[in-house]
Formats: sequence, structure tokens, C-alpha cells
Amino acid sequence: MRQGITRRELLVAGLALPFSGIAHAQLTCGELTQPQTEGPFFKPKSPERRSFLENVSPREKLLLTGVVLSRACKPVANALLDFWHSDDAGEYDNRGYRYRGHQFSDAAGRFRLETIVPAQYPGRTRHIHVKLQAPARRLLTTQIYFPGDPGNARDPLYRADLTMRRTGSEGRFDFVIDA
Ligand code: FE
Repeated sequence: MRQGITRRELLVAGLALPFSGIAHAQLTCGELTQPQTEGPFFKPKSPERRSFLENVSPREKLLLTGVVLSRACKPVANALLDFWHSDDAGEYDNRGYRYRGHQFSDAAGRFRLETIVPAQYPGRTRHIHVKLQAPARRLLTTQIYFPGDPGNARDPLYRADLTMRRTGSEGRFDFVIDA
């Protein structure tokens, strides 16, 4: 391990202490969440909802939660989070709004998305797209990745610092924005 590794890198590497509320929030702020391309499948005007699950879903579920933090570690309330991802066959719904939706962070900066694990598609490892905008702040467009996915190493867009921490069907990712 090189000198000067940050605590965030330790977190990403899964070496830090388990999640413990405020302590965790303090560990993750400081470095801004990096932007990434929105790709070809963003669609505006998604419905407001915290669950993309449908009755028909025998698919692998994912509960993605986290907080939106400022660089100074303050929770950012009322931030828009617009998520979209492919289905379990790697297809995007470009006609409707399947696996698309937006929500707003709560007073503690928290968000919560119930969905499925999206599939990889040609050229891309597994990922979830998101646009995040705090009130009167700049829009951040980025992507969140899955740890340990074999496709990560083959995808030049993959970034370790944009990778959720995952325990079974639960994923955790905290955003740090210029707010
Ligand atoms: Fe994509």
C-alpha cells in the first residue's frame, strides 16, 4: 500500500471499520464524488418514486441507500437524485420509465432506492446511472458500480471510488457534492 492513502480509499477497499452513523459520514466527506458521462440512455421527467420493483420481479433485488453530504460533511437535504439503469437483460426502457425514477434526499441527506440488480451490457460492467442536484447547486451526473464484478476490470469507465459497498441485497453509497 502506498504512502498517504486516504481514509476514503480504505473504505472503498473495505478495510475500514463497519458503518457507524456519524463516524462513517465524517470518514467519507472531503473528496467530491467524481462525475461520469450520462451515456446514451438518460430520459428526462422520470416519475418520483423510491421503488422500481414490480410485481413480476423474481429478479435479484437491491436496496441502495446512502447520504448526500457536502464537502464539510453536512447532510444535504432536498437534493434531487434521478436514477436509471438497465433491466436484468441489459436493456434500457427507452419508451417508458421502467427502472427510472427520481427522489429527494430527506432532512438527514438520506436516499433509499429499492430496485433490482441491473445486468451488464456489451462494453459496460454493471452500473447505475444517477443525476444529483442539490437546491441551487450544480448538477452532478455520475455512475455507481458493484464491487467484485468481473466486468469492472474490462470497463475503462469503472472507478473504485464510485463503487458501492455491498452486503447481500443491500448496497451503500454516499455522495459528496460541492454544496
Ligand atoms: Fe448505462
